Amino acid sequence: MDLIILDSFSGETVTTMAVARVVRTIGELRAALLPHRRAGRTIGLVPTMGFLHEGHVSLLHAARAENDVVVMSLFVNPTQFGPNEDLDRYPRDEGRDLRLATEAGVDLVFAPEVAELYPDGAATAVEVGGEVTSVLDGDPGRRGPGHFRGVTTIVAKLFNIVGPDVAYFGQKDAQQAAVIKRMVRDLDFPLRVSVMPTVREEDGLAMSSRNVYLEPDDRLRAVALSRALAAAEQQALALDSLEAGLSAARIELAAAAIEPEYLEARDAETLEPVAELTGRPILIAVAARVGGARLIDNVVIEPLAGLDNHE
Ligand code: AMP
Repeated sequence: MDLIILDSFSGETVTTMAVARVVRTIGELRAALLPHRRAGRTIGLVPTMGFLHEGHVSLLHAARAENDVVVMSLFVNPTQFGPNEDLDRYPRDEGRDLRLATEAGVDLVFAPEVAELYPDGAATAVEVGGEVTSVLDGDPGRRGPGHFRGVTTIVAKLFNIVGPDVAYFGQKDAQQAAVIKRMVRDLDFPLRVSVMPTVREEDGLAMSSRNVYLEPDDRLRAVALSRALAAAEQQALALDSLEAGLSAARIELAAAAIEPEYLEARDAETLEPVAELTGRPILIAVAARVGGARLIDNVVIEPLAGLDNHE
């Protein structure tokens, strides 16, 4: 949609600016996309829960660069929050989100009410089974597999509503990206999943909408997560030992008085546990409560180029 800005004196057009169009219903969104689909235009989808930061914006830029039409969904999905999680206080600022989406070149913002996506009687869920959803955040003692059931259900619905050619997710939520890739493969969704690098604050803290929960002191301590992951990667590669890497990370966390919920090394695709460098990408993932925020972060140790560190 174009916003035409007129000179208030002469009435002449000064500039035209594309603004993101907001749609609230599935019907409106499908109708808006139909002519594009018929014309063979490619569609990129960026699912978000809003309160946008530069991490989200990096996904929007990637979608803008690679597609004819960019759709951003803006929906705080209740089914992925546990009973004791932060659904009610999850930060929201739709006006600011729309401005940032417009600046990033988004064409359509899909911002439905909860009842639009979960009408009375909604009784169907999409669940990815196995290790990929039952460990790390999916461990029943943590967020649990129900969290990922909520994620895959809403993402499957968005895929069916939008019909994107490419869907963009962040490496920040590494397990979520692995689970969605598995769902796309297992259910034959006709689209590509693109996972973009984690965007960080200057000191290394991974950007997150939940960082607003951090009091100033905790904000300073929180940098220990990314510092721990950097130490883990560096030590694991230097000493050819994952355990040495994990110990280095534990020391960094302890120095900031952070007790991790988990700090684990796993195969980056299957999330199976690994004890040593395998020659495949290895995910080192951490979750910890820091003050009022539960933070997650990760690093992927790629096999050294040209070296099969272990066959
Ligand atoms: P959320 O609004 O938190 O559900 O995030 C929406 C998308 O943005 C997800 O695919 C996230 O993985 C991604 N994302 C969140 N934080 C970052 C970050 N710091 N860098 C890159 N992507 C991110």
